[in-house]
Amino acid sequence: MTTSDAHAELRLPTVAVKAGRPEVQPDQPLNEPLVMASTYVAGGAVEYGRYGNPTWAAFETALGALEGGRAVSFASGMAAISTILDLVAPGETVVAARHCYQGALVQLASLEQRGLIKVVLVDIDDTDQVLAALNDDVALLWIESPTNPALEVADLPVLCAAAREAGVTSVVDNTFATPVVQRPLDLGADVVVHSATKYLAGHSDAVIGAVVTRRDDIWRAVDEKRRTMGALPGTLEAWLALRGLRTLHLRVERAQSNAQELVRRVAQHRAVDRVRYPGFGGIVALEIAGGAGAADLVSASTRLWVHATSLGGVESSLERRRRWTSEPLTIPEGLVRLSVGIEDVDDLWSDLQQALDAVPG
Ligand code: PLP
Repeated sequence: MTTSDAHAELRLPTVAVKAGRPEVQPDQPLNEPLVMASTYVAGGAVEYGRYGNPTWAAFETALGALEGGRAVSFASGMAAISTILDLVAPGETVVAARHCYQGALVQLASLEQRGLIKVVLVDIDDTDQVLAALNDDVALLWIESPTNPALEVADLPVLCAAAREAGVTSVVDNTFATPVVQRPLDLGADVVVHSATKYLAGHSDAVIGAVVTRRDDIWRAVDEKRRTMGALPGTLEAWLALRGLRTLHLRVERAQSNAQELVRRVAQHRAVDRVRYPGFGGIVALEIAGGAGAADLVSASTRLWVHATSLGGVESSLERRRRWTSEPLTIPEGLVRLSVGIEDVDDLWSDLQQALDAVPG
């Protein structure tokens, strides 16, 4: 079963634990095994390793059930994003969040430079601005909410309804929120994309991505792109991501409660000019007083928090985002993104506090 129907009446923690398992029969394993195969005996539905794999299918069933749609997994979040952007016809316009993940922005800019599409960037938390951009030339509305790393929140029901009304396909990158916090398909989105590398897999050991949709035309087009372009997920990565999904709700809830407590504590620190936090999820952004130098000092001074890119693992990590030259110039130089993990919050606070104390007063 590849749709979410079998789990429609169950609550999310139960779905996270139960979806995407083999049938319960004597001597069946409880978990879908790691099926390493390039070639299948002819005459079945799969035939070849670029067309399907039982381990990917188990991960897709579970993720589809969690998001309320049908999933196709990919080699990475960027492979999922590139696949959706590849569905835009030449000359059509994509309206996208100005502060969405920089890899998506780089990909959009490259398609525009090659004359394939037009791109209009908007402040995704300014609903009127986004609605005004949805004219007849627009094919796709690219939403990230919260955005990475500015943490702006979009009004998903309003934007997705307006997009549908205008005949525009709406896509939500749900990497930061995860289905534990928000289910964009329920809020009117046509497509969800994930960097499953982050919270879904959750242990900083796998790069994998996914598209989820309820629209059969989009599911078929995306599956076809994967078959032909070949941006396949690794089988081990799909297995690890499915293993990660089993505890997604526990990890996200703990990261969120840690983040909420840290936001309360850090707000008063003299080295912090501004705390950005949407009120939910495990990602916090601190604007450090003193800009890039002070922010680099904070990143270099932690002992428990790991100075690293990426996010959504069980371990807390942090980085100054503008150290990447591709990051938009509208992101402050001194912005440090925190990915709050599931450790003890007092240990996390002590370490962060001593790193912030290192900033000269
Ligand atoms: N979307 C968001 C919000 C991200 O943060 C990232 C990576 O940081 C991606 C997509 C890209 O995913 P991947 O690194 O798995 O290709």
